[in-house]
Amino acid sequence: MKSLMVSLAGVAVLSAAACASALQGSGSLVTEQQAPAAESTSSIELHENLLTLDAHLDTPALFHRDGYDFSKRGSFEADRTNVDLPRLQSGKLDGGFWVIYTAPGPLDEASYIAARTSAILRQAAIRELAAKYADSVELAFAADDAARIHEANKIVVFQSMENAYPLGEDITLLQTFYVGGLRMLGLVHFDSNQFADSSTDDPLHGGLSELGKDLVREANRLGMIVDASHASDDALRDMMEVSSTPVILSHSGPDGVFEHARNVPDDLLVQLAESGGVVHVNAFGGYLEDLQPTPERSAALEALNEEYGNNFAEMTDAEINAYRAARIALEQQYPSPRSTFDKYIEHLLYTLDLVGVDHVGIGADWDGGGGVDGMADVSDVPKITAALLTAGYSRADIEKIWSGNVLRLMRDVEAAKTATLVSPDVLN
Ligand SMILES: [Zn+2]
Repeated sequence: MKSLMVSLAGVAVLSAAACASALQGSGSLVTEQQAPAAESTSSIELHENLLTLDAHLDTPALFHRDGYDFSKRGSFEADRTNVDLPRLQSGKLDGGFWVIYTAPGPLDEASYIAARTSAILRQAAIRELAAKYADSVELAFAADDAARIHEANKIVVFQSMENAYPLGEDITLLQTFYVGGLRMLGLVHFDSNQFADSSTDDPLHGGLSELGKDLVREANRLGMIVDASHASDDALRDMMEVSSTPVILSHSGPDGVFEHARNVPDDLLVQLAESGGVVHVNAFGGYLEDLQPTPERSAALEALNEEYGNNFAEMTDAEINAYRAARIALEQQYPSPRSTFDKYIEHLLYTLDLVGVDHVGIGADWDGGGGVDGMADVSDVPKITAALLTAGYSRADIEKIWSGNVLRLMRDVEAAKTATLVSPDVLN
């Protein structure tokens, strides 16, 4: 018995229950190897062995925030954050696409220049983080980097941009961000901008502007994934038509479970999948179900907005820090209604049924408002793997969802790229 146990150890990661039942049966190795993954592998062991990437990590917005320390474990309850190194490590979230976010602003030259400065500094902050924690974190520039960095026990840091607004009307600036490591480009945020209509604003162009179409072609040329999260339905259609490579939705959900401007109609999700794209399912509560704030919370939010305004682009760092402190206090006194982990999994499984396992990923909007009761931060993401196993998905399926699909898309984009630029780091 003991020698058989030893010989089995290298065959597969086995749960005690599956091991015992196999030995009570024929006792042959063949039977053991043919046992279905869902029965023979515990979800925690499976999760630990997967490469897990989230397509939209808003955490770089915290890097210069007072009181935030990437190396120290925070908690959603205490500071409303979702991601830091200890929680990434305990949740075995191996990294993903770290976001250069810029708030929408006026479509004029002076505002573009201010936004450009802020975006360049945000990219610098991501690169500084990787340098500061070089033992634990590494910048990634190509799909193949992800597995290598994961095997070295480090967190994978791809860069994406949420809102191309800071590029102004000079799309050659995208090349500067590419050289700094940018590999995914979201064109728009809550407000329609010079490139694209937003799903949450009145349309300016009926989809993409001509400049927006040029920007998609420039992203294709450089080798950047085009991200349609936050884009209007017409802008998503235009992106799929113009882009020479499949489009991603880095943090979006299906209208089929809950109709919302930030969710995407089912027929468009199917079209995205048929063109090779991937939808990374969002865990932002207000997009998962209808959550109504209490009158007390609404009144407190209104008072906060009156005190600080809501034009972050024009606020100083000190003002933003003061606003955030006041906002955290408000969240603790009048918590927003929360969606649940079960509701998130309902969206995820629905999307899987709709478009198939080759076209779904995870993009929970961590530190951008994502998180639900039962999955408050990245330390809880092993629950996603467990829920997928329970739903009957195989190890191979779950690996696609956690990283295989986005890396396949990235390889498509790399293969289609026609520019010969490389990041300085690649030359090292
Ligand atoms: Zn977003």
